[in-house]
Amino acid sequence: MMNVCFRCGMYRADKVIDPSGPYAICPECGYKHRFLQLPLLIVSGASGAGKSTVCHHLLGRVTQAVLLDSDILWRAEFNKPEANYRDFFETWLRVCRNISQSGRPVVLFGAGVGVPENIEDCVERRYFSKVHTWPWPVLTKRWPNDYNGGQPGAAHTSQLTLKNMCASINGSNPTTATISRLSSCWIRRLYLSKRRPTR
Ligand SMILES: [Zn+2]
Repeated sequence: MMNVCFRCGMYRADKVIDPSGPYAICPECGYKHRFLQLPLLIVSGASGAGKSTVCHHLLGRVTQAVLLDSDILWRAEFNKPEANYRDFFETWLRVCRNISQSGRPVVLFGAGVGVPENIEDCVERRYFSKVHTWPWPVLTKRWPNDYNGGQPGAAHTSQLTLKNMCASINGSNPTTATISRLSSCWIRRLYLSKRRPTR
C-alpha cells in the first residue's frame, strides 16, 4: 500500500528515502510521508537445516516480532533463476515492510533470503534500517573461537546448517529446543537493542 502515492495515486516502488524522518518521497509529485524503518531479521541456513521447524517451534514463544517462513509465498512464476528470483525477494521485502508498519519487525526464515546479494540490491530493501542475518554474523562476533573448530572465515560458508552451528557451540547433537532457544535469544537481543522509532 505504501507504494501508491497518497496524493497523486501513482504506483512507485522506488520512492526517495529521506532518513531524517524517515520519509518516503513520491518521485512523481514530491509528496512525502513518514514510515517506520525497522530492522529485518533473517534466519537462514541450507535446505533441510531445520529452519521451518525452528520457526514453528518459536511461534507463540517469541511475540516481539512477526515470524514467517519464506516458503509460504513461493509460486511457479517466481522460479526465474535467470533473474536471480528477484520478484520473489522483492515481494517478500514488500510484505515484511508493510507488516513492520504496525510496529513489530519481521523475522523471515528461508535459505535464499540469507544471501546478502539477493536482498541488498532490492529496491524494497531501503525501507529497513538494517538486515540482520542469523547465525553467521552473530556467531562470528560472539563465539569466534567456538565456531567450527575456530577456523576463521568458516562462518560465512552458506552450506553450513543450523544444526552444525549449534553443535559447534554446544559440543553435542542439538535438539530443536536448543536451536530454537538460540534463535529466540538472538531475536530478543536484537529487538531489545533497538528502540522503536516513532512516527
Ligand atoms: Zn505522488
